[in-house]
Amino acid sequence: MNVKFDVDKYFLLLSILKHHNYSENKDIKRLMIKVKNIKEKYSDDLFIKIFLENDVEPGFLLPLLFCDKKYKIDRSFVLIKKIYENIFKTKEFQKIYQETIVFQSKLKKEWEDNRDFINKFLDNIFRKKMIMPQLTIYLTHPDLPSGRCYSNYQMAIYGHKEEWPYYNIVYITHEYLHSIFNSLNLNNKKLIHCLIELITDNELRIALNKKGQYFKDKNIKIGHDYLRKTEKIILPYWRKYLKNNNKYNKNIITFYKFLKGLKELK
Ligand SMILES: [Zn+2]
Repeated sequence: MNVKFDVDKYFLLLSILKHHNYSENKDIKRLMIKVKNIKEKYSDDLFIKIFLENDVEPGFLLPLLFCDKKYKIDRSFVLIKKIYENIFKTKEFQKIYQETIVFQSKLKKEWEDNRDFINKFLDNIFRKKMIMPQLTIYLTHPDLPSGRCYSNYQMAIYGHKEEWPYYNIVYITHEYLHSIFNSLNLNNKKLIHCLIELITDNELRIALNKKGQYFKDKNIKIGHDYLRKTEKIILPYWRKYLKNNNKYNKNIITFYKFLKGLKELK
């Protein structure tokens, strides 16, 4: 796997704006009061307001802020960057940022300690040489539930509480698999997402912990609710695939094609 970790203040702030409602973190709550005041100041400027709202997708904003040069000269973008930079200077943001840096170094170490194990695990699952795209994972604060891969920009956003052991590296592998499968242009996105959850959220979690069961850890449900029904249909075939004892078991792509043709999934 070709993964790099980074912390970026813009990404961190976008993630705070989007996910602060899910967090009890006091600095995040205090910072959001300040953001609210700034938003009121610009209540006539819809564009500025949008950039301080929590229902905007960071992946939509980031290319506008960084990748697409044509937007950079626009006065509104210059202003929104200035507003963001003022938020960076607040003591609340500074603290959240520092804690994110600590999260990054812990995660880097955990990643390095387990990288070989995960690579070998994936080789056994794929049974085929896969293209490993470069992916930069921008970490956000662990009190924010962020996790999303933007394959087109070779980046992902990630941050989360460790709900069970190895939680973070399991989900970083999950995001990375999105970027691998995306590069293959397979068209059944739901099926791919089910496979990713079976591989990482379930099989890899159990492999790293050397114990556990599918779809839950103690009382915590694992994986997206809307995928579970399909995953349960796939499960018996998946178990056979893992045991390597059926005709569709050549590699993960032949297995995907086999599943696509399955009557139960139509
Ligand atoms: Zn996913």
